[in-house]
Amino acid sequence: MTKKRIDQIEVSGRRVFVRVDFNVPMEAGAITDDRRIQASLKTIRSVLARGGRAVLASHLGRPEGKGYEAESSLAPVAKRLAELLGADAPHGVEFPSQDPTDEAARAAIAAMPERGIVLLENLRFAKGEKKGDAGFASKLAGLCDIYVNDAFGTSHRADASMYALPMAMRARGAPSVSGFLLDAELEYLIQRIAAAERPFLAILGGAKVSDKILAIENLMSKVDRLIVGGAMAYTFLRAQGVATGNSLVEADRVDLAREILAKAAAKGCEFLLPTDHACGREFKAGTETATVAGAIPDGWMGLDIGPATRERFGAAIRSSRTIVWNGPMGVFEMPPFDAGTRAVAAAVVDATAAGATTIAGGGDTAAAVEEFGVAEKLSHVSTGGGASLEVLEGKHLVCLDALDDA
Ligand code: AMP
Repeated sequence: MTKKRIDQIEVSGRRVFVRVDFNVPMEAGAITDDRRIQASLKTIRSVLARGGRAVLASHLGRPEGKGYEAESSLAPVAKRLAELLGADAPHGVEFPSQDPTDEAARAAIAAMPERGIVLLENLRFAKGEKKGDAGFASKLAGLCDIYVNDAFGTSHRADASMYALPMAMRARGAPSVSGFLLDAELEYLIQRIAAAERPFLAILGGAKVSDKILAIENLMSKVDRLIVGGAMAYTFLRAQGVATGNSLVEADRVDLAREILAKAAAKGCEFLLPTDHACGREFKAGTETATVAGAIPDGWMGLDIGPATRERFGAAIRSSRTIVWNGPMGVFEMPPFDAGTRAVAAAVVDATAAGATTIAGGGDTAAAVEEFGVAEKLSHVSTGGGASLEVLEGKHLVCLDALDDA
């Protein structure tokens, strides 16, 4: 699963198409979080520093392939990228077109100097992108000499720029390689997990069993221990016959939860569920709160793991050598119900400091560890929500097939 990486090929004077993930959150035309842009800088700098010409392309939001829409334009990204690169981009960031493959884009690429950057407009303005259309991919292929995938967060989708394009490059003998961001994601989510040091622990949380069921089933046969927290835990507790009061339970998944518990027991996988809960009267900030051990009475809902559970989960985390974490332990957006997720984050930080490999993934989990200021203290925080979950589900990312092996 090791792919050839951008720094392993010659780029001087070549036009290097870098498929990045600049799908940043925006509010009223302003970028509210530029981490995805920052995450691509290492790859872009590697191309520029060696005299390459970087043609960057991304999607942003969900335009439906009907041409230019001002609200989904990558123009604010071009500006921010130029600021972040500063003197590393001596010719700035050109943003020439309203369509990724129009005449203006082609002309700007033809005229690019060495160490120049052209950012194409939103790939999803073209109707061929989401369809994985080979015709659109071949137009993109005509723009460049080398293809780089640095968009891990889109690698579970066979969009034209993700799959048909590198396949078209390969057909004409041109290199298709990974960028540094993709490489790091594959190293942690695939290689390190495949060679996990034991005890190997998975921590799953979040709202719904139905969203994480495939990940639970896949991880159950790989890990030694599985922690389940968040609202998901209440469906499992119901399956064990524990009263859950007004907590969120997926009634149609209770039988499935029971089957999963039985399978985990048969496989010798230790399954840890919360035994006490931070409860609220209602799902709302400022609601009356209570700590409840065991059965949750009617009129109360579990909104976070309780203090004894934090201790027990913390001990399991601190004594593990490989940890994968996806999903919060409670309603971490609404204090005081962030305490459980904070305690788990602190234990994962301790495990990392003691030499464990720790990997956090999923949109909410990445946001939580950033907000708690501990992202840098874990081995790896995945940038891809859906893509990282698919890897945890054991699914193969089809776009990787189109890249050259190392
Ligand atoms: P997910 O997107 O599946 O990872 O779920 C994350 C969401 O689950 C967050 O918005 C949390 O607020 C929510 N959540 C976690 N625990 C609970 C809980 N006990 N009750 C209700 N919502 C929860």
